[in-house]
Amino acid sequence: MKEYRKKIAVLGSTGSIGTQTLDVVRANGDLEVEALSAGSNIDLLEQQIREFRPKLAAVYHEEKAVQLRERLRDMDVRVVSGMDGLLELAVMPETEILVTAIVGMIGIRPTIAAIEAGKDIALANKETLVTAGHLIMPLAKEKGVKILPVDSEHSAIFQCLSGEERRSVDKLLITASGGPFRGKKREELRKVTVEDALRHPNWSMGHKITIDSATLVNKGLEVMEARWLFDVELNDIQVVVQPKSIIHSMVQFRDGAVMAQLGTPDMKLPIQYALYYPDRRYLEGERLDFRTLKEITFEEPDTETFEGLPLAVRASREGGTMPTIFNAANERLVAKFLHREIAFLDIYDGIRGAMEHHQKKENPSLEEILDAEREAWEWVDQTF
Ligand code: NDP
Repeated sequence: MKEYRKKIAVLGSTGSIGTQTLDVVRANGDLEVEALSAGSNIDLLEQQIREFRPKLAAVYHEEKAVQLRERLRDMDVRVVSGMDGLLELAVMPETEILVTAIVGMIGIRPTIAAIEAGKDIALANKETLVTAGHLIMPLAKEKGVKILPVDSEHSAIFQCLSGEERRSVDKLLITASGGPFRGKKREELRKVTVEDALRHPNWSMGHKITIDSATLVNKGLEVMEARWLFDVELNDIQVVVQPKSIIHSMVQFRDGAVMAQLGTPDMKLPIQYALYYPDRRYLEGERLDFRTLKEITFEEPDTETFEGLPLAVRASREGGTMPTIFNAANERLVAKFLHREIAFLDIYDGIRGAMEHHQKKENPSLEEILDAEREAWEWVDQTF
């Protein structure tokens, strides 16, 4: 009898989460990769296709897809492109789980399509729930699909909640490293460079999320995401700075008990947990040694300096299209910062400005969310 192999598709396989997902596949040997995709990095995608032999590959940029098709003439793989390609990948009949390791709001439509087709989602792409949580969570429930968090904080909370009743939860405690600028004041942030901001103390990640960690926008996005994933009120989510990223997050219960998930910082753990849930597989790597660790320290986040967090909370509290404006303005501003077109603190000014300029729409449809994204991008482009 043929051995059962769980079939997965990866959106964004050439990125930080995508390549680590393939490390997990390689180490376990019993997952089958049905589809891979990238934006434009066809060199790495070609290598991945030759190693994992998927049936389908999606490349967002058409001209790159043409080049890849040419390079892979010796292989039995179909190369598709554009949003239609990503959507085709998302709904492939063979796959059970879609790993959304793509960066940005471009992940929303494929994620919705995959849920409609009954696929479980290993969710890394945080922009999806931040902007469309009100559409995605009810849809997932209706279709009976699991949303399995990959982000280390949400995976930690998910693990702490295992076997617990939702009504026993008092609050979620999301930990934050504080990023490379922890301890600095606003004046000192005025002149920081792209290189400074990319120097994250604990994690090696894609550029966009690394900048988001430096501004604390990332923590804000995580708060918004947690709200949808775990169905809690904003007031029941607290951010705690824990600089070494040993505690990945915690849950406080009604009786005062606090559960935490700890480990060395390694994204392969939450990725593997999501892919095999509810199984816990062996994972090679460093283990925590409490004799050498000695102490774990905590601080309050400095929300006066790092406005990314309070602006996110404000956007989430206002709801409707406001989280989309927060997220889309940030996406555009981070791209400009990475291209050295604006200064670090302009990111905060830009997000605040876009939010103040926006006329919020309640309960937006997907089209209204995408319209709000465009509006924020245009506002940022005209202003900076
Ligand atoms: P990376 O920038 O490293 O990778 C992004 C991936 O998305 C790449 O494969 C990239 O392809 C692909 N991509 C970009 N644009 C498009 C497009 N238009 N069409 C198709 N594919 C595209 O990002 P990360 O892996 O760091 O992050 C991915 C997501 O996971 C983000 O939402 C992030 O917030 C979240 N996340 C990441 C964590 C981490 O540790 N890195 C932790 C928790 C969450 P190409 O290489 O061709 O550009």
